[in-house]
Amino acid sequence: MPVDTEEKPYQYSFRIKCTSCQSEHPNEISFTRFDSIPTTTGKSNVNYIQKCRSCQKQLSIDIIKGPQAYMLNDPPTEQPIIKFDTKGCDVLAFVPGKGHKWQAEGAETGSKFEDIDFGEIEDEGYSEYDERALEEVGITEAEFTIVNAKKFKTF
Ligand SMILES: [Zn+2]
Repeated sequence: MPVDTEEKPYQYSFRIKCTSCQSEHPNEISFTRFDSIPTTTGKSNVNYIQKCRSCQKQLSIDIIKGPQAYMLNDPPTEQPIIKFDTKGCDVLAFVPGKGHKWQAEGAETGSKFEDIDFGEIEDEGYSEYDERALEEVGITEAEFTIVNAKKFKTF
């Protein structure tokens, strides 16, 4: 799961598009779940807010749940990590990228692995020695999808 505490907030990066004019935002957008920006109505705060460059409509994103740890499963299954609410935009993709720190825990040993750079997983896979299990552990591949939250009723 992402390292995401108030002291070390995770920088979530996404590619988004405007739902009014369908134009894709030219750059990745980034924010943390601790960012708090008032909406134009002033009634609530969200993590990210911006005006669409094409149609000037307001776009906003707010993380409402998570992050939650991905649990080991064989074969791997899709599991929810974060849940967010969007207004005026659709999230096209999550961009984990280099410099984004994740942490993991040995499924059977409980050994902790911190400071896993997501760039390593993307480049050649991440591997480390689990001293309690006396064996090599690692992450060879990770895939992210954006789905409608209705798919995970329990999250
Ligand atoms: Zn637009």
